[in-house]
Amino acid sequence: MSTKLGKAVVVTGASRGIGKDIALRLAADGFAVAIGYAGNQPQADAVVAAIQAKGGTAIAVKGNVADADDVAKLFSSAQQAFGRLDAVISNAGIMDLAPIKTGNVAALDRMMTTNVRGTFLVLAKAAEVLGDGGRIVALSTSVIAKATPGYGPYLASKSAVEGLMHVLANELRGRNITVNAIAPGPVATELFFNGKTGEQIAMLAKMSSMERLGQPVDIANAVSFLVGNDGGWVNSQVVRVNGGFA
Ligand code: NDP
Repeated sequence: MSTKLGKAVVVTGASRGIGKDIALRLAADGFAVAIGYAGNQPQADAVVAAIQAKGGTAIAVKGNVADADDVAKLFSSAQQAFGRLDAVISNAGIMDLAPIKTGNVAALDRMMTTNVRGTFLVLAKAAEVLGDGGRIVALSTSVIAKATPGYGPYLASKSAVEGLMHVLANELRGRNITVNAIAPGPVATELFFNGKTGEQIAMLAKMSSMERLGQPVDIANAVSFLVGNDGGWVNSQVVRVNGGFA
């Protein structure tokens, strides 16, 4: 495995799904990777093992992104293990479908807690510890532009993520740190498949002009660009990585 970058990154929600592929790709790019996860230790350990098997460096750190102490532990563990931190990927997130008319405030609170409070805490820590040349990427969603029925609380939480991203980019003026969001369309992960029928999945897969679901690696490739040597002039942007999902 290449160690050409010799840098270190924190990726939240990297035990599975999109975060796992981001971790694997950034490890292949030469980053040492801190794998954040909520509770799924066997899968987090498997991602660490896969990176180590290719000669890379990784640790797994359990914690809730919505808990400030857990986020502080994730970052301090990464800094202790790697001696540096160059990039932060705020990927951990949850999605429940909840039509607004049902008044499902519990679903709203869950998504606001993990997606907004969690992103806020991770971005805050990133802003505190990253130095010159640092890179921050947060995960939003392309569904914001479609306003699909049932996605109200999720969409509200991810709109907040985009707002936080833009404000932080401005707050970091003069520090040569980029802050961006990636907004995937439907991606083949548990978060996407949960609760959907085969028919719904096939319909959603056809919505991109590529006529397939996104794969986690499609999103990881875009993250790799944003945090890599060629991504430094992209700042305060929402990059819609969705195969033409309109
Ligand atoms: P998955 O459900 O497949 O994976 C979620 C990951 O986040 C897991 O690693 C999980 O850890 C972790 N996680 C969940 N809650 C917390 C928490 N409170 N604290 C710490 N870690 C947590 O999701 P995806 O990979 O599909 O989604 C990743 C991101 O991409 C999310 O922000 C999502 O909103 C966004 N996205 C996804 C799309 C899709 O179609 N899949 C489309 C657009 C955006 P553990 O394994 O331990 O539970």
